[in-house]
Amino acid sequence: MTHQPDRRPIVYIETYGCQMNVRDSEMLGGIFRQAECDLTDTPDRADLILLNTCAVRERAEQRVIGRVNQLASLKKRREVRIGVVGCMAQHLRDSLLESVPDLDYVLGPDTYRTLPDLLSVERDERYADWSTDRGELYEGLPTWRDKHCPSAFVTVMRGCDMMCTFCVVPFTRGRERCRPALAIVAETERLMEEGVREVILLGQTVNAWREGEAGFGSLLRQVSDTGIPRIRFTSPHPLHFGPVELAAIAECENICESVHLPVQSGNTDVLERMNRGYTRAEYLEIVRALRETIPHVTLSTDIIVGFPGETEAQFEDTLSLMEACAFESGFLFKYSPRSGTRADREFEDDVPEEVKQRRLERVIELQTGFTRRFQEAMVGGEYEILVDGIGDRGPDQWTGKTRGNRTVVVESGEQLMGRLVTVVIEESGTWTLRGRLKG
Ligand code: SF4
Repeated sequence: MTHQPDRRPIVYIETYGCQMNVRDSEMLGGIFRQAECDLTDTPDRADLILLNTCAVRERAEQRVIGRVNQLASLKKRREVRIGVVGCMAQHLRDSLLESVPDLDYVLGPDTYRTLPDLLSVERDERYADWSTDRGELYEGLPTWRDKHCPSAFVTVMRGCDMMCTFCVVPFTRGRERCRPALAIVAETERLMEEGVREVILLGQTVNAWREGEAGFGSLLRQVSDTGIPRIRFTSPHPLHFGPVELAAIAECENICESVHLPVQSGNTDVLERMNRGYTRAEYLEIVRALRETIPHVTLSTDIIVGFPGETEAQFEDTLSLMEACAFESGFLFKYSPRSGTRADREFEDDVPEEVKQRRLERVIELQTGFTRRFQEAMVGGEYEILVDGIGDRGPDQWTGKTRGNRTVVVESGEQLMGRLVTVVIEESGTWTLRGRLKG
C-alpha cells in the first residue's frame, strides 16, 4: 500500500485532450470517491497520480511522458504511484511501461471500474491492462464534478466506427456503442436538480447515436423535453446529419444553434483518402441546409492541411470551401502521421514541412478574418449568455457563452455565476467579446 493505513488514500487526476476525457476524469473522480478515497488538486499530497491522456497527436503523448518524468521526482521523497490512463494508454499499451521506467500503471479506457484496485496492489507490481469491453458504457457510476459550474457533460455514446485514415480514436476508444436514451434523460434531470443549466452531449461522432429506429434527432428532442435551459452537442459527423436532426435543432428552443462540423479538407479526392465518407459537394449541401433551416446557426470546423498527396490545387479547394462556408471559427492543423493508423501504413507523408507550414498559415489567416468579421458584426447586438466563469480581473468580472458559443466578458458587482443574462456587446477582440449587462 502506498498510503498510511490510518487515513483514506489520496488520488490526483490530471486531464489531457478532448471533452470526452474531461468527462471521463469526472467519472474517475466519482469512482474513487465511491471507493472512499479523497481527491486532491495537487500531486504533492497524492498516493496515486493518474494522467488521463489523449493519443490524437504525437506531441500530446510526448508532453505526457515529460510530465510523468517530472512527477517521478516525488518518488524520491515518499511512496507514490503513477499511472497513465485513457487513449494514450490504449495506443501504446505495455510499450509505455517499457519506455518510461517510473511509470507504474498503463490502463485503457474500458478498465476504469478496476482503478480503485490500484491502491491495494503491491508496490513493485507494475502492470498494463488494455482489455476492451464492448458492453462497457459506465452506467450507474457517480460523477465528481465542479458543482459551481452550470454546464455539464453527458456522454451519449463511446467509441467510433468511422475509421478515418488519419485517426487513432477507433483503435483507442473501440467500436461505437450508445447509451440508452432513458439513462441520458435521467442523467440530465439529475444534473438539473443539482443546478446545472446546460448539458453538452458528448460522443466521438455524437450524431451517430442510435436506439432501434430512433436516431440523434429523437434523442435531442427527448433531452429537450426535460426543460433544461440549454443543450449543446459535440462532435457531429457530417454523414449523420439529416433533416430530422436539423428540424430538432431548429424547433427546440433550448437546443443552441451552434454546430461544430469537422470538414478536414475541401477536396473530394483528399476526403476519399481520409475515408471521411462524403464529397465536397455533399458537405457544402449540409452546410447550406444548416444555414437555411436554422436561423443564426454558428458553424465551426476542423481542417487538416498537408495530408499525404495533397496538391496545391487540392489545398486551394480547402480555401475555397472555407470561403463558401464562412465558418465562425475553426481548429486548424498540419497533418502528422500517427502510428497504427491506415494513413501511416498506406500513404507516404510526402508534403514537405515548409509547405504544410505555409498552408497552415494561409488557413489561419483566412479563418481569423472570418472570425473577426463575425465578432465585429455582433457589436451593438443583444445576446443571452450563460455565465460559467470568473474573468481574469477578479470577482467583479464574469465570463459566459452566447448560444453561438462565443465567450463574452462582462463586469458586474452582482453574483452572476450560473445565470442566464442578456448582454449588449460593446467590443470585439480576437477571441473574446466584451459586453455590459442589459439594464
Ligand atoms: S469520425 Fe474520424 S476523426 Fe472523428 S473520431 Fe472517428 S475516426 Fe477519428
